[in-house]
Amino acid sequence: MSWYDEVEYIRKQAKMNNEFFASSLPMIASENVLSPLCREMLLTDFHGRYAEGTPGHRYYEGCKFFDNVEEKAIELAKKLFNCSYADVRPTAGTTANIGILKALIKPGESAVVLDLANGAHISFGKWGGAGVRGINLISYPFNDEIMNIDVDAAVKLIKKVKPKLALNGRSVFLFPSPIKELAEAVHDLGIYLVYDAAHVLGLIGGKQFQDPLKEGADVMSGSTHKTLPGPQGGMIVSDHKGNTDEDKSFLRKLGFGIFPGVTSSYHLHHVAAKAIAFAEHLEFGAAYAKQTIKNAQRLAQSLHEEGCKVFGENLGFTKSHQILVEIGPGKGKEASKKLEDSGIVTNMNTIPGDTDPLNPSGLRLGTPELTRIGMKEIDMDSIAEFFKRALLKNDNTKKIKADIKEFRKDFQELHYCFKDGFRGYDYHKLV
Ligand SMILES: *Cc1c(COP(=O)(O)O)cnc(C)c1O
Repeated sequence: MSWYDEVEYIRKQAKMNNEFFASSLPMIASENVLSPLCREMLLTDFHGRYAEGTPGHRYYEGCKFFDNVEEKAIELAKKLFNCSYADVRPTAGTTANIGILKALIKPGESAVVLDLANGAHISFGKWGGAGVRGINLISYPFNDEIMNIDVDAAVKLIKKVKPKLALNGRSVFLFPSPIKELAEAVHDLGIYLVYDAAHVLGLIGGKQFQDPLKEGADVMSGSTHKTLPGPQGGMIVSDHKGNTDEDKSFLRKLGFGIFPGVTSSYHLHHVAAKAIAFAEHLEFGAAYAKQTIKNAQRLAQSLHEEGCKVFGENLGFTKSHQILVEIGPGKGKEASKKLEDSGIVTNMNTIPGDTDPLNPSGLRLGTPELTRIGMKEIDMDSIAEFFKRALLKNDNTKKIKADIKEFRKDFQELHYCFKDGFRGYDYHKLV
């Protein structure tokens, strides 16, 4: 046996993975597919290079062309989020968040934050980034019924405990957060409000969700590969202008938090792909984000009509790309497994009232990827029917899977991206 067999083994797994996703319904809310022109950047020489520092101020030579790319990425990011400061170096949303924590709060100080049980992300949790930084976490009061921060109680809490930083990050993100009210309370204390837009960055860029920077958030972090359909990575933006010494120092600290704080090589090929993703989002982002939300709302309605318990009926189910479905006590994993066998990729999730994160009672569904492959409201009705067969009627999973494969044949092209320029392979096809 040659070691080349191992190489072939890996290549075969990748090929089968491509085929699996191209013949299934990918509905993980944090996932998306990359456009051909973004993909092209991942194969360039940028991949092998280093560029520590900022454009024009490098520790390494050879950055002439990359400097142009990073400057363009920053310019496009500022346009997309309508703001005056952008950093495209974070290699992940988590990295962006830890960089912000490094910049704005010291070990032992307190931050107000959402609880993991209420849909927060581990990067602001005790076992994740906030723990790495040694921060004392105080939870916002939360209202299960509206799946949101209890804003009056939260403002009271902020006034009482006087934290050093206020964080807002959500992986279950059905409805906008009460940023205006929180920002007022936070700014009265002379501290900063951080909005982690990992999930909803593409909806915000497409102007179909709240605009946190306009509502008063001082800095927004995000992943560049969730609803924003770019390469895996992170970014931060702010509308602080650095007009005063204090404000200048705030921006300097943010930059220093990211480099040298949490990056060295910052994956230059991904930065180039981010720049292209921003340009594509400026062109197509509004239409894509609007359709993504419409699809989520229609899917929720259809599932509800088919007999599934969807969270938030009297709230219109969702205002984002996500919906939350209640399956039954501790039954989330079993349901997501059955769906996977049927060709529907989702994840189990805690729902209001759950206490055991390893045995949650619900599923989180997302529509970004379905939207990118061209699905509209009417297709959500077909998908709800597949869910009914898998979860309520206990149909044979192999039969459902075959039917989904057939259904997917009409959705093999990528939408909301430029369709020329990349000659490397059949650019608009998914496999
Ligand atoms: C996904 C997510 C992150 C982390 O992003 P990565 O890019 O996966 O590191 C951070 N915050 C929230 C709220 C998230 O949902």
